[in-house]
Amino acid sequence: MQQRLLESSIQFSTLPKVLEKVNSGRKSNPPPSQFRGDPHPDRPSNFIRQQIEADLAAGTYRERRWSGRPGPQAQHALAAIDPARLRTRFPPEPNGYLHFGHAKSICLNFGLAAEYGGRCHLRFDDTNPEKEEQAYVDAIIHAVRWLGYSFQDEGEDNLYFASDYFGWMIAFAEALILAGHAYVDSQSAETIRRNRGTLTEAGRPSPFRSRSPDENLELFRRMQAGEFADGAHVVRARIDMASPNINLRDPVIYRIRHVEHHRTGDRFCVYPMYTYAHPIEDALENISHSLCTLEFEDQRPFYNWLLERLAELGLLQRPLPQQIEFARLNLTYVVLSKRKLIQLVEEGHVSGWDDPRMPTLAGAERRGYPPEGFRLFAERIGVAKSESLIDYAVLEDCMREVLNEKAPRRVAVLDPLRLVITNYPDVGVEDCFAPNHPQKPDQGQRAMPFARELWIEREDFMEAPIKGFHRLYPGNLVRLRYGYVVRCTGCEKDGEGRVLRVLCEYLPDSRSGTPGADQYKVKGNLHWVSVRHAHQAEVRLYDRLFRVPLPGARVADETEGGMRSFLDDINPDSVHVISAMCEPALAEAEAGCVFQFERHGYFMVDRTDGRPGRPLFNRTVTLKDSWARLAST
Ligand code: ATP
Ligand code: MG
Repeated sequence: MQQRLLESSIQFSTLPKVLEKVNSGRKSNPPPSQFRGDPHPDRPSNFIRQQIEADLAAGTYRERRWSGRPGPQAQHALAAIDPARLRTRFPPEPNGYLHFGHAKSICLNFGLAAEYGGRCHLRFDDTNPEKEEQAYVDAIIHAVRWLGYSFQDEGEDNLYFASDYFGWMIAFAEALILAGHAYVDSQSAETIRRNRGTLTEAGRPSPFRSRSPDENLELFRRMQAGEFADGAHVVRARIDMASPNINLRDPVIYRIRHVEHHRTGDRFCVYPMYTYAHPIEDALENISHSLCTLEFEDQRPFYNWLLERLAELGLLQRPLPQQIEFARLNLTYVVLSKRKLIQLVEEGHVSGWDDPRMPTLAGAERRGYPPEGFRLFAERIGVAKSESLIDYAVLEDCMREVLNEKAPRRVAVLDPLRLVITNYPDVGVEDCFAPNHPQKPDQGQRAMPFARELWIEREDFMEAPIKGFHRLYPGNLVRLRYGYVVRCTGCEKDGEGRVLRVLCEYLPDSRSGTPGADQYKVKGNLHWVSVRHAHQAEVRLYDRLFRVPLPGARVADETEGGMRSFLDDINPDSVHVISAMCEPALAEAEAGCVFQFERHGYFMVDRTDGRPGRPLFNRTVTLKDSWARLAST
């Protein structure tokens, strides 16, 4: 149990510290429009920027050549100097949809390249033949573009597939074999694992370790020709079975897998291990700074060992790429692991990958989180060398900040209660004018019809008000925003005591914007929609998908024994579907538009389930952090 807690590398106690740091940066950050990846003098420095700046100052990568496409030393050597001052890459495995953690990596890699005059490649790390699909490839390309980044610019098309390098990877493995740096091992996977030793005990060399280069080459060629079954042989790097770093105890670099690959079909039946493939992919692509998450730190010595050997053999161009690790994004109230996200979808806990509650970029897009919000978030949380946990509220704050700037205001009543203005003419209608954006007068106004019967929020009326309630109650005056001041005169109820309608009288000389209207000092300012002109729309109110900050990490009571699954922490009440009354201007709202519903929050017109003329709204985020409020009361 303790072990599992430690494995997640996160402790609750780190939360306040992290939040303190993040919060302290909140107000001093420049507005979202400046987070475009362009150089900005106010950007906080960090260890990655420092390394890049040091490399640029020293001219470390100045002499590199670039043939316009990935390749070994011989190909680049003939070409001109690389026009990119640095190259980074985002290397997803196409075995699932991207999640918020990937957004951090995308913003980091593409952002740094743009900032320092470099290029960022989108590379599909599709070296594992199983579980990879074209549908994921398409969705990932869409998500990167959606976040606002381009891998096709300035005359370069930097979209790559690691599987296109299989030929080079095999050739390099053969060169390593001939140079005595690799050998074919015919022990079983289980034996290899057992003989690797432990942290305190050296590994035991394989009896096949001393095979001659020729014998190894012949065996590797026969592996490639499909003569052996899966698992019969592997190729291992020959490094040091006694290395204190277990990753250097002759790691496996090639294995036999008789499986179809989604791009290369059945052309290959040997596939490279990730730890072998990744450094080579970086080097072929002239990557200068290979940014990865901390769990790869122990692999760095092998990364460097491999590239050094290949450069010595004249196969790779120097200077070689350098691996730099940063802490992955950990966020409260979500799970960020493809495996767990797949489980949520496959077991039907959500409606799909793009369910607005999912922490996937597809979900975010459908929910209405703006891409600029992710860029702002990435900049605000920064990068660090040690694991931390970010409160989900920080992400929501970033989304609000961006949405506040760009979302037009509209009125919708989510829990409608009828308000009758008894002294207003029965057939009368007049237009009230509401600004589309209070801070942006250039966005103009729209007309909202005002009539005798209006919808107001049920919670805006109390027959017997509690202390501090300033909205409608008998005898009280409130302003109907952009309209008149009304005095509540009572209500009508049904047999069960449920309020059916609220009654009031309006003050004809109080209309907003007319001379003398502000003589009435009222504390309540309510939104409303004319009953006759309202249109009804389905609204989905989303709450967090998990009830606890660290899903699955909670210690269950002793009778249940040990840890719980993250699935046990699913919030059973994370979506409420309601029928709201909307102002007429919302009737024609197009799919993908986001609005601020005054007093409620931001809502996006769903792209999938609505119909033209019948928009359906997803709540993106509330106006304020309702969880913080709940926690403090
Ligand atoms: P998962 O752990 O969800 O399976 P992954 O690391 O296997 O994700 P990849 O497709 O291999 O997914 O990741 C592509 C890139 O995104 C890698 O460079 C990886 O380091 C980075 N990445 C993945 N998760 C996070 C995260 N939570 N925070 C920051 N970067 C991440
Ligand atoms: Mg991975």
